[in-house]
Amino acid sequence: MNPRQLFIPLLLISVLASASAALAQDKGMVDPKPLPPLANPNDPKIGAKELFGRKVLPSAMPTRVVGFYAKGCIAGAEGLPINGDSWQVMRLSRNRYWGHPNLVALLKRLAAKTHKEAGWPGILVGDMSQPRGGPMFTGHASHQVGLDADIWLTPMPDRQLSRNEREEMSAVMMVRDDRLDIDPKVFTPGHLMVIRAAAQEPAVQRIFVNAAIKKALCREARGDRHWLSKVRPMYGHDYHFHIRMKCPPGSGIECQGQPDPSTSEGCSAGDLAYWFKDSVIHPKPPKVPPKPKPPMPMSALPAACKAVLNAPDAKQ
Ligand SMILES: [Zn+2]
Repeated sequence: MNPRQLFIPLLLISVLASASAALAQDKGMVDPKPLPPLANPNDPKIGAKELFGRKVLPSAMPTRVVGFYAKGCIAGAEGLPINGDSWQVMRLSRNRYWGHPNLVALLKRLAAKTHKEAGWPGILVGDMSQPRGGPMFTGHASHQVGLDADIWLTPMPDRQLSRNEREEMSAVMMVRDDRLDIDPKVFTPGHLMVIRAAAQEPAVQRIFVNAAIKKALCREARGDRHWLSKVRPMYGHDYHFHIRMKCPPGSGIECQGQPDPSTSEGCSAGDLAYWFKDSVIHPKPPKVPPKPKPPMPMSALPAACKAVLNAPDAKQ
């Protein structure tokens, strides 16, 4: 591929990624109106997000991960309780606090560890998946199979947030205005401890953070540094970090995972150079705006997602 061919998709990715980073900060409403019923839900062209976005509860089925992080669904998902000893769920109106039971257990463990080791009251949990996974109306290409979760880089306050605060509160920007490093006024050793605790979980395969945060972790990590190989630079991710789990043991080929990342720390100047190029930190808008892509139809998802979608609601 010549550099020009490479540049265009990367630029599009960065435009899309910065749009989704903004969406991650979007505020919600305490009482969102339910979506109106679809006039023709069997239209094969209808976006799968229209169908999955209307499901309020998981399917009453044994837990199964179907497909890939950015093209799939989950049967028998579990909800993360919205309040725990050391976590709280944000943006409840989005109804995206569902995932594989292993992800729910992982978040509870991480919250407790964060409380103990980083001295935070706890973590604020952003988007996980919809009750049955699948594509979403806003914000993410991935998070479709119940194995991805966003954790705010803002520590949980030492009190229970109101419903309204959970919709309105903004996370704190960790990256300096020039985008070349973290903002030392807000990024603390506690942040390193929380990201490290997540990366040290054996079932976590990747963590996405802004390149400036990766640079800071590389500079500040002491002792064991193996965990750094799992922490990958990504567009956005300057208010939150993203945890991605491997396919759960015993999932079979139905869960389409990714290969493990390379075991290198990813901390050399060469590893990070791409991310700090001016064209990457300050991407120019494309001359011709990209044509909006038609939404992903059900036929693009694994066939088993249709059964997940149509199954009765799980009892709560
Ligand atoms: Zn995410």
